[in-house]
Amino acid sequence: MQRQQALQGACDALRRSYERGWISTRDGNVSVLLPGQGLWISPSGVRKQALQPEDFIPVAAASAATLAAPRRQPSGELDLHRYIHAGMPAPGCVLHVHATHVVAALFAGIRLRELALQFPEVARYTRVGPDVPALAATSAELAEATRQAFYAGPALAPHIVGLAQHGVVAVGRDAQEAFEHVERLNHICEIALLAGARALVVPGLATAATGAAEEELHG
Ligand SMILES: [Zn+2]
Repeated sequence: MQRQQALQGACDALRRSYERGWISTRDGNVSVLLPGQGLWISPSGVRKQALQPEDFIPVAAASAATLAAPRRQPSGELDLHRYIHAGMPAPGCVLHVHATHVVAALFAGIRLRELALQFPEVARYTRVGPDVPALAATSAELAEATRQAFYAGPALAPHIVGLAQHGVVAVGRDAQEAFEHVERLNHICEIALLAGARALVVPGLATAATGAAEEELHG
């Protein structure tokens, strides 16, 4: 994928996230790893709904140094983005937003992975990882805990994990794919919240759905 096209897709993902209320204007961040061209990440503190491809900052994929002297600072979640890209099987996109219903569901005590397994049409396309506990935004602890949520388990790495009292981190081959994982998870969180917390665990249903999903993931 051409750089301009990939970065435009990343801009679109943040603009659409803003339009859905998943981020307030300066929240959220996105990065794209481009073969032979390094890692490109959104800058810190700018209005994300107005982000343009030329605003992205090229950084080395694995060190603290930026490739060129930027006019702006890269996102404060740069290390988190680096960790997640490092474990991906192919170059792609990492998207971080504060998807409203996901954050609300976490706040209500819903475990996202278990919830997703009750919705086979979600589990079929989107693997949800273990929830990351509440940790300070942009901290080294948050970056490391998110890395573990993606890669410490024995199963295939998830497409998305929730960050308690904060948001989500999603991955995809491109920004659109990452956005769709957020959209899918946010949708079932909205449904679950509408149903009320007591409806969330249905004996037997979770087991049946889990079996089908496991089959799908390994098929
Ligand atoms: Zn955030």
